[in-house]
Amino acid sequence: MNNLDYLIIGQGLAGSLLAWELLQRGCKIMVIDNGLENATQVAAGLINPVTGMRLVKTADVEHLLPCALRCYEQLSQFFKQDFYIAKPMLRLLNNELLLANAHKRLADPAYDGYVKTIINNPAPPYLEQQQTGYLQTRLLLSCLKQYFIERGCYRQSVLNYQDLQLQPTLSWQTISFKKILFCEGHHATQNPWFSWLPFQLVKGEILTLQHQSQLPDVIYNFGDWLIPLDKQRLRLGASFDREHLNTQPTLHAKNTLLKALKLSPINLDQATVIDHQANIRPCTLDKQPFIGEHPQLSQLAIFNGFGAKGSLQIPKLCKLFADALLNQTPYPSSIDRYYATYFPH
Ligand SMILES: Cc1cc2nc3c(=O)[nH]c(=O)nc-3n(C[C@H](O)[C@H](O)[C@H](O)COP(=O)(O)OP(=O)(O)OC[C@H]3O[C@@H](n4cnc5c(N)ncnc54)[C@H](O)[C@@H]3O)c2cc1C
Repeated sequence: MNNLDYLIIGQGLAGSLLAWELLQRGCKIMVIDNGLENATQVAAGLINPVTGMRLVKTADVEHLLPCALRCYEQLSQFFKQDFYIAKPMLRLLNNELLLANAHKRLADPAYDGYVKTIINNPAPPYLEQQQTGYLQTRLLLSCLKQYFIERGCYRQSVLNYQDLQLQPTLSWQTISFKKILFCEGHHATQNPWFSWLPFQLVKGEILTLQHQSQLPDVIYNFGDWLIPLDKQRLRLGASFDREHLNTQPTLHAKNTLLKALKLSPINLDQATVIDHQANIRPCTLDKQPFIGEHPQLSQLAIFNGFGAKGSLQIPKLCKLFADALLNQTPYPSSIDRYYATYFPH
């Protein structure tokens, strides 16, 4: 039997960056993935430090963002591909509350470097945000998959949970492992060891549009967002649906996104829809990721729950997770906050 350190289940952004990190640290790993289109591939990959009606900074963004940018830059140098595309974002200030909050943030030194100015001419007003951009998630996953294949540490396969042997040695097929790390995105709700965690999945749909308009090279955020991919194509998204948790694109979401676009100040009347994708965000009830060991089976661990902020959060958290695995430091965003609720003594 082969002996490896870690079996990673899932090659979305979480499993891919974790596998990369553990390989850099000299670990022997195997990644398995079922090959289905995943949330990472569909995602817009947006990084936006200041969000919501309150225009508030994401917690710990001062650490998360530099770490994410460093990670994507290192990967770019290694694969000789651009993965992260930095682009300013114009946030539409279409009500009094947003406008008041924008003024408040511009006056707050803690927001220096994240918000720049209000552009008022021509109306309506926009807040110019900085340190925004998007990750080319599909390209990144495909480069990493190829890398794992070349290193002999990737298998395309569905993990059937009953095929895992927990005793006397932790093993799958003919390989034994120290730990299994589940990075299954929304599929974790089917996982017999971790489905008790309070996920709050959210389906999202995104359109790709082709157009002939002359648009500034910025990301527009008007509640929904528009991301220019090149001079003729942009992505429009994303819907939020907590009820229909499947990966089917729907006419309803398409029409809703196109209707919202008409309300935006950008004229894209002649644009045509050339693609329409859907997938499921692995959001959690308390908006915090789920990272840590099963309370009774410490050989099983989870790295999941990155919601709609995977591109920003995962690089830093996979470093901290690797520290916890290799150096016994505490797990970041540990699931032990739920042990007492779900495993009372
Ligand atoms: C429409 C939409 C828009 C989004 N926009 C953004 C955005 O702008 N910015 C942002 O940061 N995030 C965004 N997200 C969220 C982002 O996709 C997630 O935060 C992140 O990609 C989750 O990565 P993951 O690896 O946890 O899950 P996934 O990418 O879903 O990967 C999980 C993988 O595990 C595999 N798997 C699961 N179970 C098994 C099994 N038993 N056997 C084998 N393989 C298995 C799956 O097939 C999949 O490949 C968006 C998501 C959606 C759906």
